[in-house]
Amino acid sequence: MVKKNGLLLVVSGPSGAGKGTICKELLKKNDQIKLSVSATTRKPRTGEVDGVNYFFIEKDKFTQMIGNSEFLEYAQIYDNFYGTPKAAIMECLEKGQDVILEIEMQGAKQIKEVCPEGVFIFVLPPSLEELKNRIVGRGTETVEEIDKRFSCAFEEINRIVDYDYFVVNDDLEKSVKEIESIISSEKNKVTRYKNNIIDKFKEEL
Ligand code: ADP
Ligand code: 5GP
Repeated sequence: MVKKNGLLLVVSGPSGAGKGTICKELLKKNDQIKLSVSATTRKPRTGEVDGVNYFFIEKDKFTQMIGNSEFLEYAQIYDNFYGTPKAAIMECLEKGQDVILEIEMQGAKQIKEVCPEGVFIFVLPPSLEELKNRIVGRGTETVEEIDKRFSCAFEEINRIVDYDYFVVNDDLEKSVKEIESIISSEKNKVTRYKNNIIDKFKEEL
């Protein structure tokens, strides 16, 4: 059998589009997919758990991790820093597990430079009006933070040109199914495995 490598899946989209909700559902249904836990200097929201939602760290520690090249990418978003720890991801991919990164566009661009074989997926809201309703309905940000996130949304949507796929999150179940089908198509791309395939059949000659 041809051994299939793990995929590095990058999911972005404006705040409130539903990335977190989609990823949670996707992980529930697919135990071969692991979620990358980012480090952030943001304070935890009610219900968020250190090491599960994020590694919540102080700015000094974040700066030290940058200095030690511990991040695959990092970015400053709104007033906080966010970064993807490199070691855990490399370990998963080497084991053949898929890894999903839920990160914003500056970080995704950095990942594309170092890992062009990644799969870049953009989650869109059905409309800007619905996006605002979702950010407000989530109830996790102050009015000021909501305005800041909403006013960035259109500019963020313009970054869709850097992505391979888009999913319009009008229906959660449909969005999850679409991402599952992107994953299975990517896993069958000849360019990922052509040498392995040829070698496997050569062995039988
Ligand atoms: P993001 O991670 O992109 O910032 P969230 O996953 O936190 O967004 O979703 C924002 C809000 O929208 C949440 O309250 C979530 O329950 C809701 N939501 C997510 N997907 C859908 C959907 N398909 N239909 C309706 N509401 C949704
Ligand atoms: P939140 O504060 O709502 O959890 O996240 C704010 C934004 O940061 C979201 O767009 C989220 O996808 C992004 N984000 C989370 N972790 C990372 C990361 O490690 N790197 C980058 N570049 N963005 C991240």
